[in-house]
Amino acid sequence: MRKNIVAGNWKMNLDYEKGLSLFSEIVNMVKDEVVGEQEVIVCSPAIHLYSISKLAAPVAHVHVGAQNIHQAESGAYTGEISAPQVKSTGASYVILGHSERRAYFGETDTLLAEKVDAALKHGLSPIFCIGETKEEREGGNFFEVIKTQLAGGVFHLSAEEFTKVVLAYEPVWAIGTGLTASPEQAQEVHAFIRSAVAEKYGEEIADNTTILYGGSANPGNARDLFSQKDIDGGLIGGASLKSRDFLEIVKVFN
Ligand code: PEP
Repeated sequence: MRKNIVAGNWKMNLDYEKGLSLFSEIVNMVKDEVVGEQEVIVCSPAIHLYSISKLAAPVAHVHVGAQNIHQAESGAYTGEISAPQVKSTGASYVILGHSERRAYFGETDTLLAEKVDAALKHGLSPIFCIGETKEEREGGNFFEVIKTQLAGGVFHLSAEEFTKVVLAYEPVWAIGTGLTASPEQAQEVHAFIRSAVAEKYGEEIADNTTILYGGSANPGNARDLFSQKDIDGGLIGGASLKSRDFLEIVKVFN
């Protein structure tokens, strides 16, 4: 059966010491309070990856991810970080296709497909984000937008490769805005995503694909969201910066 996952996205927050201290709190709470099988992932800025991976190593179900990689393995790309570099820190995931990267850094589906390939080649599982803007939702063509993002970013993969991908539905209008998709709105899109995966890779792979919801999820709305049939956890931005809030969300799966 598919995994339930709660992943934190710290974005460009927390200096080195504060990141370590938040991660230590999370690890200690997970050890003491998490009794389910859910996986906890923290996607930190690159400066934290190595140290928090060391803290995560002894704790089953706690993993570390990056928030971006370059598509090349190495070379003259000042300021960038590659998949093998991320992997060498002990991290095992990478967020790709986040709407902030698409909007502020011009990341296209074609580029993202290359990054997905680089991640998989070097043993990182992509947490691949898809989602429509407010205009696209209001215009009613959001299913098409999502299908295009899937087709462009991950549907070139072989079935075996695709099984390593986690999908995250993140309606852009809900990210960091305090607006959340209703459980019904989110479920409708998650079911659509799962059916698109089934069409491409078959029912068994679709059934085993973890699809996270992201967009102003918090301890107050996580239970209703995660109780939907096709929502397998969350990608959590703001609420992942407070250990107690993050843990409350993780504990929905206890
Ligand atoms: C995100 O950035 O992936 C996210 C879901 O942010 P927030 O929870 O703050 O809306």
